[in-house]
Amino acid sequence: MMEERLPGWKELPEGAVVRDAGNTETIDVSGWRVFKPVIIDEKCTRCRLCWIYCPDGAIIEVIDEKAKMGKRYEVDYMHCKGCGICYAECPVNAIEWVPEER
Ligand code: SF4
Ligand code: SF4
Repeated sequence: MMEERLPGWKELPEGAVVRDAGNTETIDVSGWRVFKPVIIDEKCTRCRLCWIYCPDGAIIEVIDEKAKMGKRYEVDYMHCKGCGICYAECPVNAIEWVPEER
């Protein structure tokens, strides 16, 4: 049986370095999640607390004339790490905490 060769230290990508401004935008961190937030639009009062508290900017404000108060909130699942802060902070329980399915 052939042993799998592990990369040497010189072949590993450099850690803790932001090489280009804004490059984290292209990195998909969805694999980190065990649970994910799901916003229940009917319950949402548009208070924006989830948007303010999310440490990853993964709550998106969508301007939509047809929505209540002309906007709604969505989760950017490519950048949401599943920390649960939005779920904990929503004052009206408009965010459900759902097991991630893969
Ligand atoms: S679970 Fe964490 S990372 Fe994901 S949207 Fe909520 S606050 Fe942001
Ligand atoms: S914290 Fe809850 S009520 Fe406030 S905007 Fe977010 S989902 Fe809506």
